[in-house]
Amino acid sequence: MKYISTRGRMAPIGFQDAVMTGLAPDGGLLLPEDLPIIGKELPDIGTLSKLSYQELAFEVISRFATDIPADDLKKLINDSYSTFQPLEVTPLVEVGDFQILELFHGPTLAFKDVALQFLGNLFEYILERRGGELNILGATSGDTGSAAIHGVRGKPNINIFIMHPAGRTSPLQEKQMTSVLDDNVFNLAVDGTFDDCQNIMKTIFGEVDFKTKHSLGSVNSVNWARVLAQTVYYFYATFQTLEKTGAKSVQFSVPTGNFGDILAGYLAQKMGLPISKLILATNENDILSRFFNSGIYGMSEVVPTLSPSMDIQVASNFERYLYYKVGQNAEKLAALMDGFKDNGSLSVELNENGVVDDLFTAGRGDTASTLETIKKYHDQYGYVLDPHTAVGVHVAEKFQCLETPTICLATAHPAKFTQAIIDATGEAVHHPTLDALADAETRCDSIINDVDVVKRYLVSHI
Ligand SMILES: *Cc1c(COP(=O)(O)O)cnc(C)c1O
Repeated sequence: MKYISTRGRMAPIGFQDAVMTGLAPDGGLLLPEDLPIIGKELPDIGTLSKLSYQELAFEVISRFATDIPADDLKKLINDSYSTFQPLEVTPLVEVGDFQILELFHGPTLAFKDVALQFLGNLFEYILERRGGELNILGATSGDTGSAAIHGVRGKPNINIFIMHPAGRTSPLQEKQMTSVLDDNVFNLAVDGTFDDCQNIMKTIFGEVDFKTKHSLGSVNSVNWARVLAQTVYYFYATFQTLEKTGAKSVQFSVPTGNFGDILAGYLAQKMGLPISKLILATNENDILSRFFNSGIYGMSEVVPTLSPSMDIQVASNFERYLYYKVGQNAEKLAALMDGFKDNGSLSVELNENGVVDDLFTAGRGDTASTLETIKKYHDQYGYVLDPHTAVGVHVAEKFQCLETPTICLATAHPAKFTQAIIDATGEAVHHPTLDALADAETRCDSIINDVDVVKRYLVSHI
C-alpha cells in the first residue's frame, strides 16, 4: 500500500515512511492510495466478527502496513494493547438506550492511548531497523501530551519533549505527565498560554535545517498511524452491537475536536462497515457542526469549555475528509485550503437533501447540557460520563432512531475531570491510577516563552 498527499505534490511513499514523515512535504496530509474493502481485500463480516480485538486489529492494519512482516506486526499490536485493563481493550456497555464504547482503559485513561500506544511501538520498531533517533516535540493542553509520553517512555533512540502552559493545565493532567520519570521524557512548563506553546512548536518545525539536524518528529493527530489504529474499534463495536441486537446497521456518536476520531469512522464506513450515520458532536467550539449543517467552514474564537480536548479552532484532520468530499481531486482540495488560509473560511455545496453529506448529522452541546447529561445518566443509570462523552451522548439523544442502535464513543474516564463531575452530580469519581498520583514524585523544567531558549534546551538535552 502506498500513501499520497491530499495536495498531490508528492511521489507516493510506503507505510513506514508515512509514519515517520507525519505531515506530507507539500503541506498536505497523507492518505492511502485506496482502501481495502470488506469481502474483497478484507475477509467478510462473518469472519471478521469472530475475532478478538487484537486479531481484528491485525486484519485491518496489515492491509495498510504492507511493508511490515506479519509476525512483527502481530507482536507490535499485542504489545500495544497489553497495557490496557481490561484486556478486552475497548469494552461495550449498555446504558439506557445507548451502547457506550469505553475507549479509556489505556495507561492515561483517554482514547488517545489506543493510537499512541501503537504509534510509540511503531516508532521504536522502525528506528531499530533503520537506525537513527527521533526527538519528539509536542505542545499540549492536557490529554495528548500524557498519552504521547506514556506511548514512548523508556524507549531507546527516542526522546520526548512536551511543552505545557505553566499552571494552566489541570493539576491531575500535569501530574500524569510530570510523574513519568524515565530518562527520555522531558516536561517543559512554559511561562505562557497553550497558544504560546503551539507557536513555539510551529516555529521550530518551520526551521527545516534545525528540524532535520536534530531528527525532530511529531505525534500530533495528523499522523496516519493514529487514524489507522482508531478505525479498529469501529469494526469491533459494530460487530458486537450487530450480534447483540440483531440489527443490520449501527450509528456512531463521536465527540469531536480535531476530526481524528470521527475520520476513522468515516474510513471504516468506506471500507464497507454497515454504519448508517456518523453523529458529529462538538461543544461550543462548533466549527465542524456548523460545517456539516451549512457547508461553510469558518473560523471563530476558541472558548474554554468543560471538554477541553475539543476546544479547537481549526480541525487538523478535516482536510482528509474534504479530499474525499471533492472527489479525491488534489487540485480542488489545494485551492479550497489556500482559500481557507487567506480568508479563514471555505465552503462546499449542499446536496439535494440540503446537507453536506448524508452520512453525517451534527450538533453541539454547551456547558449546561453537558452538566445535565452527566447528571441524568448518573441519576437514572448510575453511570458517570466524562464531559467529552456527555457532549456526544447529548447530541446522540437528538438523533436516536428505533431500528438502528447507537454506539456512543466514551473518550475519557470521568475521574480525569473531577470538578465537572462534582458540579454535575455532587460527588467525585475515583480511579486508582489517578489516586496514586497524589504522592508521586515529579520532574519538570520551567522555561520562558521564547523559541531560542526552547531550542537551546533541546540541543543540550538531545
Ligand atoms: C482528543 C479528544 C477528543 C477529540 O478527538 P479528535 O480526534 O480530536 O476529534 C475527545 N475527547 C477526548 C477525551 C480527547 O482526549
